Amino acid sequence: MSMRRILSVLLLMSAVLLCAPNAAYAKGESAAVVVIDAGHGGEDGGAVSSGGVPESGINLQIAKNAEWIFLFLGQPTAMTRSGEGAVYSPEASTLREKKVSDLKNRVAQINGYEAAFVISIHQNSLPSHPKVHGAQVFYNTVLPAAVAAGAVQEKLNEAVNTDKPRTVSAISSSIYLMKESRHPAILVECGFLSNPRESEILQDAAYQMRLATAIVAGYCQFCRNGE
Ligand SMILES: [Zn+2]
Repeated sequence: MSMRRILSVLLLMSAVLLCAPNAAYAKGESAAVVVIDAGHGGEDGGAVSSGGVPESGINLQIAKNAEWIFLFLGQPTAMTRSGEGAVYSPEASTLREKKVSDLKNRVAQINGYEAAFVISIHQNSLPSHPKVHGAQVFYNTVLPAAVAAGAVQEKLNEAVNTDKPRTVSAISSSIYLMKESRHPAILVECGFLSNPRESEILQDAAYQMRLATAIVAGYCQFCRNGE
């Protein structure tokens, strides 16, 4: 990381108060553990750009950046995966079995924490509408996920959705990890791999850091405001 990038992150973070680890969400408090979930992995690359770049690697970079910023802030974190591979159990053999096992293992990890907040990182794709772009935050049904999603969306609107702000949305019940998490969870679709320009910048290290910074800043804003 260049000195300029480190300085820009430090400057941004200096505006963000420390998230004090706590199980509750009263004003100024944070979850004991923020679980950062880099979507997909291994043979399951998720959405793919027209140039053949899967979202799994981009998700991991943004997740790692967020982990690093949280570490800097003193907020304990856990990653569902910290490498390129998925986290399926050895008995899974088919792609379908691996995907199911991977999601079950992630949920088991998440639900194993007494108090946690989940931030799942993904990339969107809508090949039929290649102009569609921007970052959008989804939330599960566990309170106060919707409130946190709003705070993160606000920061993403300031950081990357500068031409057109987006609004948060409840996640579809078909998204297993979000549905099964017993803790509040948000899923950030950072951008559209189906948009040629956005696909390019989503692979840029500085842009990935900007996204991670906005996500962490939004979470910290939520902690400061309380439920
Ligand atoms: Zn995805």
